[in-house]
Amino acid sequence: MRKNIVAGNWKMNTTLPEGVKLAEQVNAALAAATPKCDVVICVPFTHLATINQVIDKTKLGLGAENCADHKSGAYTGEVSAPMVASTGATYVILGHSERRQYYGETSETLRDKVRLALDNGLAPIFCIGEVLEQREDGSYLNVVKTQIEEGLFNLSAEEFGKIILAYEPVWAIGTGKTATADQAEEMHAYIRQTIESKYGKEVADNTSILYGGSCKPSNAKEIFSKPNVDGGLIGGAALECESFMGIVNAF
Ligand code: PEP
Repeated sequence: MRKNIVAGNWKMNTTLPEGVKLAEQVNAALAAATPKCDVVICVPFTHLATINQVIDKTKLGLGAENCADHKSGAYTGEVSAPMVASTGATYVILGHSERRQYYGETSETLRDKVRLALDNGLAPIFCIGEVLEQREDGSYLNVVKTQIEEGLFNLSAEEFGKIILAYEPVWAIGTGKTATADQAEEMHAYIRQTIESKYGKEVADNTSILYGGSCKPSNAKEIFSKPNVDGGLIGGAALECESFMGIVNAF
């Protein structure tokens, strides 16, 4: 059966010493706990190798927030999937709405990134979600379906089995506005149905679908109680150990 997962997305926050301290705090909190979910932190590239040394990977997974759409070569400033994997990281966030919006990431680019991530043993946390206008004009289900079809449906069923999905309504990211638990459940159930229509029930049932968007200790329990919500991708609240653990402990 699918796993429950709480993953932090630190975005472009923390210097290296600050990030190492936060990772150490989360690691210590997890050592003293028995969480009912897998816990992952996705951190800036510059932090990966060092944080990999200070955490217990049996309790805390490590991921990057992006990777390049090429394996190697003349792409100044980019960081490839093999480079990420060589730090010890085993996850990578792909297609976050901030990457789609500010850095022009398209489904085509994302297909290349997903392929490279999988080829290098990284589990993609693949983000999808509608903007406010699409929520309001009623096209949100179709928008998300298209993102999944275009970004992922070239994969074999075995490959798709390695994908973690994160539904993040863009209007809820960093805004303090959370989707209601019912809004999240409607979308997550629809996503699972979409997966089932392509890959069958077993693959759909085994896919972890996380919710992201202003998730906090105060609302996580209700959102995670929904049958198709398998955890969360957490931005702001992942930047403090106490609030991140509050969400982990919502399971
Ligand atoms: C995110 O960026 O993945 C996210 C969910 O951010 P926040 O929790 O801050 O809304």
